[in-house]
Amino acid sequence: MWLLNRLHNEGYSALLFEHDALGSGQTVASQGMIHGGIKYTLNGALSGASEAIASMPAHWRNCLRGEGDVDLRGGSILSDHFYLWSASSAAAKLTTFLASKATRGRADKVSKKDLPTVLQNPQFKGSVYKLVDMVLDVPGILQLLANQASEHIYKINWRHARFDSQPQTGATTLHIDNGGETLNIKSKALIFTAGQGNEKLLRKVGASAPAMQRRPLQQVMVKHRHPHAFYGHCLGADTTPRLTISSHPCADGEQVWYLGGSIAERSISLPSGTLIDQAKTELKTLLPWIDLSAAQWATLAVDRAEPKQRNFARPDQAYADWAEGCNNVIAAWPTKLTLAPNLSSEVLKLLTDRGIAPDLKNKPEQKVLPHLPLPKPTIAPPPWELAFGR
Ligand SMILES: Cc1cc2nc3c(=O)[nH]c(=O)nc-3n(C[C@H](O)[C@H](O)[C@H](O)COP(=O)(O)OP(=O)(O)OC[C@H]3O[C@@H](n4cnc5c(N)ncnc54)[C@H](O)[C@@H]3O)c2cc1C
Repeated sequence: MWLLNRLHNEGYSALLFEHDALGSGQTVASQGMIHGGIKYTLNGALSGASEAIASMPAHWRNCLRGEGDVDLRGGSILSDHFYLWSASSAAAKLTTFLASKATRGRADKVSKKDLPTVLQNPQFKGSVYKLVDMVLDVPGILQLLANQASEHIYKINWRHARFDSQPQTGATTLHIDNGGETLNIKSKALIFTAGQGNEKLLRKVGASAPAMQRRPLQQVMVKHRHPHAFYGHCLGADTTPRLTISSHPCADGEQVWYLGGSIAERSISLPSGTLIDQAKTELKTLLPWIDLSAAQWATLAVDRAEPKQRNFARPDQAYADWAEGCNNVIAAWPTKLTLAPNLSSEVLKLLTDRGIAPDLKNKPEQKVLPHLPLPKPTIAPPPWELAFGR
């Protein structure tokens, strides 16, 4: 939806077809962190690619102020910072890392009097840094992006739709059968930004590359009445955060602490109950003064979708490229919510390099694309609303 908005703003005519609810899959299941990649540089090395991600929080902030390439005015920020904290044993390592050049002033040490409320307890002995990263109200941002492009978003039912490759040009066209009438959608570019769905879509058009990889996670959700929201990565002995906590408001006024990080990465094959027990122990170890005895617990198994990397490495840039074996198909994965603006810029570069230029007279308000007689998708509910009821 970021890309759709961006294309319209650049003067392109573009439509989005969604087969379920907007943002289902990864986006509504994400922790909503718009980060500069610092958590991926805990081993101290800042790669060229992580420089690309470093500019993303400022990019999103410009858009939230209405000064960027997509208008996010009215979007809510749940937190304008994220903490990096360590239990006492890892404190020395954290301090060394954060004092190094790698962080380039993107993290500030938090004094005892400014500690987040959750960590204000005499039992807390670790150190805390504040990152410029922010956390967004993701469903709200999705709604905003959808509203701005609502006339160009449709629901598609693949039982009644198919791709067809034209022999003369090799270009792929989309045909949608709609109650006896066939809608033929011809476009200069078909852009697949369907997360995991890209794998199947690429197969449907006969593309031989790119391939996709899945990075499975099992997140933990804790719904409770503890009054304080908290957003932080706890650093352990590894170079990936031991535990990442983000807080999300629920419709009934309670909140969910959403737990990711190593706990979610190494527990994918555990039964939900076993993982919940581990999460309870972890929170009791790290925050023993927080009483979660009346909390409700659930887990969510979800895969990240990424372009296939050598050695299953983590991509740290958005991916977009023309698919091989077909003429007018781009496959794209942001790989992180943070990188949605980066993905859009990469797609625009691909279009421009192929001479696919916007018709600049064709402003969105002129509605040059005809209205299609197709239903509209809704925004996907966040996983905690599904797990704990509405
Ligand atoms: C647990 C978790 C936490 C995360 N936390 C963060 C975070 O804090 N910060 C961050 O930057 N990133 C985070 N990420 C990564 C981030 O969520 C994803 O990279 C990003 O949301 C991917 O967006 P997407 O639109 O490409 O895919 P998705 O969000 O998966 O959306 C794909 C969309 O395509 C639709 N679709 C699928 N197949 C088809 C089809 N055949 N036809 C039509 N439509 C189709 C789906 O219904 C869906 O609406 C997290 C990921 C996970 C899993």
